[in-house]
Parts: sequence; structure tokens; C-alpha cells
Amino acid sequence: MSQSPLVQLEGVGVRYAPRSPQVLADATLALAPGERLAVIGESGSGKSTLGLAIAGLLPQGSIVTGHLAWPALGDRPRPGRDIGFVYQDPSGSLDPVMRVGDQVAEVVAVHSAMAPDVTPLEQAVNLLGRVELPYPARTARAYPHQLSGGQRQRVALALAMAGRPKLLIADEATSALDPIVQARMVALIGRLCDDDGLALVFVTHDIALAATLGSRLAVVYAGRIVEAGPRSRVLGAPRHPYTRALMAAQLGIERPRGGRLPTIEGQPPDPATPPPGCRFAPRCALAVSACSAAQPPWRGAFDDGAACLFAPGNPA
Ligand code: SF4
Repeated sequence: MSQSPLVQLEGVGVRYAPRSPQVLADATLALAPGERLAVIGESGSGKSTLGLAIAGLLPQGSIVTGHLAWPALGDRPRPGRDIGFVYQDPSGSLDPVMRVGDQVAEVVAVHSAMAPDVTPLEQAVNLLGRVELPYPARTARAYPHQLSGGQRQRVALALAMAGRPKLLIADEATSALDPIVQARMVALIGRLCDDDGLALVFVTHDIALAATLGSRLAVVYAGRIVEAGPRSRVLGAPRHPYTRALMAAQLGIERPRGGRLPTIEGQPPDPATPPPGCRFAPRCALAVSACSAAQPPWRGAFDDGAACLFAPGNPA
């Protein structure tokens, strides 16, 4: 990586309180300016915690171990300015009693360097147009409840972009949308990142969406990154049985219209009582007794490898 990374994690672990279960363990990754990383995992896998850690938005009182830094952003990223965040539910980002244009204008006024001849509201209307809301000047005068779910999510995206961040984090930001709206939103996020040279962390349970937006993929299982690498390598030659199982479940079938994605047999472990050794062992068809003896080492490069006894490459 020739440029300073936007964010760098080395062996990062997270607990939300001193005696609570570890929800993220030993996470190592780096993200360069303009890069697009898709983080894939089932519900409760720790993928959202990883997104919050990258954004510097872990709740107060969280216990973070390991090394977490933002070399290209200074000591800590400024939320809304350096990193924009889009959540699954836009209502968490929107004020129900304020016109959406004013909400975007407020963020523009606080965070963006303004051209003297453009008001924050004019810039907000321009942003609402960039996120492809119809009639942006009229939409700017609407309250959130007057918009559809897909339109509210576009406003949330405009809010996240309003501080001109260098990194956009979208956490299941398209999951609640119907398939057609979702496909348009995914394409829009990709275009905005291309146009502005924005780096992206796209957090999702859907490996097909991850493949659409991520140039690199990180697969998270039970609080650990179990595989990471360039999209073509991970999808072309997956090294971890969990990645292979996800691909078989989600990519090997016809996608249901608006329904839930098929899942892998069995359940992820309870984070409070993870099994010894490899956390995927109870669901893994390849498991041998050595898999449960100790956490399998990461094999391969930190950004192109997998944590499985049988993955190719030397232990890191
Ligand atoms: S270490 Fe063993 S149990 Fe874990 S994924 Fe690899 S083969 Fe399966």
C-alpha cells in the first residue's frame, strides 16, 4: 500500500463493557484512500462492530484492545467530516420535524468549505440531486415522513456525503429496500464513490451485493475475520469453508424476490461461550479434532488469506 492508509487495524478486539462478551477479536486490516472493502457476515457476526470501529464510532465505555489508527486522517476521524456513515434505518439519522433540505444544509454549513456565492441550502439541493431524488428543490422542503423508505435512505446518503468525507461506511444500508430500489441504491453508492474518489466500507450479509460493490472482501464469522482478499481471488478461489458455504448458499441458487437469503445449516456460536479453537468447527464439514484444539492461525498475507488449518499459505 503506497499511500498512508485511511484506517489501520492490527489485532483489534472489542467488548462493549468490561465483563461483556468479546464481539470482535483479533481484527487486522488496512484501507487505502479510494479503496472499496465489503465486509460480509451473518447477523450478530460482529461485522457492524467492525464498521463502527473503523469509523471511530464505538459507544463510550467500549473496551478496545490491539492497535486502531487513522494514519491519513489524524488522531481520530471527525464523524460526519472525515467519515460518513449510512445505517440500515434512515430514521436514526433524520430529524422527523425538520425539512430534509435544512438537515442536509446544516451538515454542509458545519463541515464543508463553502464557495461564497453558494448557500448551504443550495448546496444541499445539489446533493439531493446527486443522490437522484426527484425534483430536489421540492424534495428539500419535504419532511421525512412525506418521503418513501427508499427516498429517506437517499437523504441519509446525502447527509453522509454532506461533510465531503474521504470514507463512506454503509452498514446494511440497502437491506431494508425492495430489490429494484436496492439495485439502484447500490449502483448510486458505487457511482458516488467513483465520482468523488471516496473509499467505501460496505457492510452486508449479502455476498452478491458485496461482490457488486467491493473490490476487496472481508468475511466475518462469530467475531473474527476468517477470510480477506481481492474480490476476484475470494470469489474465484475461496480458502475458508465458511466463505465457500456462504457462496453455495447465496450465489448457487436463484435469488428469492424480496425474501430472506438462504442460510447455512446450524447456528453461529453464542459470543459469550464460543467453542474452543475454530469457531466455525461445529458447522464445518471439513473439521478434524485439531480444529477444536486451538484457534487456527491466519494463513497467507494479512490482506489476502484465511484463518483455517487447511488454507494454503504459511501461517502469518
Ligand atoms: S480450521 Fe477446521 S473447522 Fe475451522 S474452517 Fe478450517 S477445516 Fe473447518
